[in-house]
Amino acid sequence: MNLSNLSSRNQFSRQPSTARPQGWSGRSLALSCPLQPEAVVHSILIVDDHPDNLRTLAGILGREGYRMRKATNGEMALLTVQTEPPDLILMDIRMPGMDGYTACLELKANPKTAEIPIIFLSAAEDVDAKVKAFEVGGADYITKPFRAEEVLVRIRQQLMLRLQSQQLQAHNQRLQIEIQVRQQAEAETQLLLATIQAVSQATSFEEALQAVLCEVNGAIAWDYGEAWTPDETIMSLWLRQVCVKTKDERLQGFYHASQNLTFGVGQGVPGQVWETRQLLWLEDLQNIAPSFARQEMAIAAGLVTVLGVPIVVDGRLLAVLVFYSRSQIPQDPKVMELVQAIALQLGGFIQRKQMEAELLQANRELQRLVHLDGLTGIANRRCFDATLEQEWLRLRRNQLPLSLILCDVDYFKGFNDRYGHLAGDDCLKQVAAAIAGVCKRSADLAVRYGGEEFAVLLPYTDTAGAICVVEQIQAALKTLAIPHAQSAIADHVTISFGIATLIPDGLQEPTLLIEYADEALYQAKAQGRDRYCTAIASPPREY
Ligand SMILES: [Mg+2]
Repeated sequence: MNLSNLSSRNQFSRQPSTARPQGWSGRSLALSCPLQPEAVVHSILIVDDHPDNLRTLAGILGREGYRMRKATNGEMALLTVQTEPPDLILMDIRMPGMDGYTACLELKANPKTAEIPIIFLSAAEDVDAKVKAFEVGGADYITKPFRAEEVLVRIRQQLMLRLQSQQLQAHNQRLQIEIQVRQQAEAETQLLLATIQAVSQATSFEEALQAVLCEVNGAIAWDYGEAWTPDETIMSLWLRQVCVKTKDERLQGFYHASQNLTFGVGQGVPGQVWETRQLLWLEDLQNIAPSFARQEMAIAAGLVTVLGVPIVVDGRLLAVLVFYSRSQIPQDPKVMELVQAIALQLGGFIQRKQMEAELLQANRELQRLVHLDGLTGIANRRCFDATLEQEWLRLRRNQLPLSLILCDVDYFKGFNDRYGHLAGDDCLKQVAAAIAGVCKRSADLAVRYGGEEFAVLLPYTDTAGAICVVEQIQAALKTLAIPHAQSAIADHVTISFGIATLIPDGLQEPTLLIEYADEALYQAKAQGRDRYCTAIASPPREY
C-alpha cells in the first residue's frame, strides 16, 4: 500500500465521516493520516449579500458534509464569528454596510479570529481588487461566477494549510513545554547536586543546614534565608541559621531582632509552615492583613515577598526554611517545585548528617570513657594493654628501646585505714596528676594500672631516660607532700618504682617487659620502699 498516496488523497479530499471510501480501514487511516482526524466536521461561514449566491454555495458545501452558517454583510459576519469561530470564511467583497475588505481587516486584527482563513469571492476581476484582497489578509481569491469544483478544491487546500499550521503550533508548544520541563529538571538536578555536595562536606547539622540555606537562597536569587528548627520538648521553633546575601544594615537588624524569638505551632511564618507542613508564599507583605509576628519588622527591613518551606522526614519536621525577597515576586510554580524538590530530597540527607554527627560525638565520648580511668581521669589498664602492644611492634621494627616504670604507693592500705577511702581516692588523684604531669612527650603514657599501682610507658627511652622520669615524679611528690602518718619511711606519701627497658625482638612477648618491671618493683620494696630499682634485661644501645 502506498502510504503517501493515501495520505495526500485524504488530506485533499473532504470526506464526511459517513461516506468514507471503500477499502479504507480505520487503522490505515490512523497510520497514514496524522493530519486529519476522521470525525472532524468543518464549519464554514458564508458571507454574501446576494441570496442566490448564498443558496448556491450552501448547496455545494452541504453536499460535501460541511457545517454552514450564513451572513449577509460584514457586521453580521463579525457578530457570527464572535459566538463561534468557523474553520473558514467565504467572503463577498461588495456588500451594503461593511464590505468584505473591512470585515477581513477587523477579523485579522482580533487575535481570536486572526487565524481563520478567508477566501474572497467577487465578480471584480481587476488585478487591484485581487491585490487588495491579499493585502487585507485574505488567503485566496475566487472570481464569480465560480465553478463548484474550484471552490471545493480551494476550500480543502485552505483547511489543510490551517490544520498543518495548527499542528505545527501545537508541536512547537509541546516542544517548548518539553524544553521548559527539561530546563527545570536540569536546574533542580544542578541545585540538588551542589547542595548535596555542600551538605556532605558539612561536619555538623548546623553546617549542613547552612549549606542548604545558602545554596537554595542563591539558586532562587532571594535576599535573606533563615532556618528554624523545632525543640519538641517546649514545642517551639528557634532560629538556627541565617543566610544574608548583602551587608545591608536593615537585614542585619532583622536578623538581630529575630535571634531570640521562638515560634509555637501556628505562630508566625515558621510556625504556620510547621502546622500545615505546606509551602507558604506571601507575595506582598505590605498589602496583606497582619498575619504573622515579624511582618512589620520584615517590612521595615525592606522585605516584600516571603516563602516558607518545611523539611519533613518520616512525618517529623526537621526544619523550616524561610526565604525573603526585597522584590515583589508573584507565586512562581517553578520556584515552588524547585524548593519542594530540595526539601523532599534533602530531608533524609540532612537527617543522616544530624545522626552521623551525634553518633560521632557519642563514639568519641565512648572511646574516651573506654580508655580512661574513672577515678583519676588518666589512661586505664585497657588503654595501657593496647598501647604496649602497638609500641612493642613499632619499636621492634625500629629496634629502639621501650621503657616501663611500674609505681606502687607505699603503705597505701595504712593511708586508707588512717584517713578513710575518700581521702585515699583524693590521694590517688593527686599522685596520678603528678605522674601524668611528668609525661610531657606525646608518646609517653601515664596509666592507673590498678588499685594504688601506676605505670608509665616510655617509648624511645632507655633506662637512664626512665630514671630521669622517676626522679621528676619523686620531686613532684615531695612538693605535693601529702601527709601520711601511717608510713614507716616518711611523713608524706612516697612511691616505689620498678624500671625495665627492652629493645623488643621477635622472640619475646610484650608481657616480658611487665615481668621485668614487676621484678624491679619487688626489689625496690624489698630494699625499703621510696626508691627505684632497675631491671636491665638488655644493655642500652646506641640509637
Ligand atoms: Mg455582493
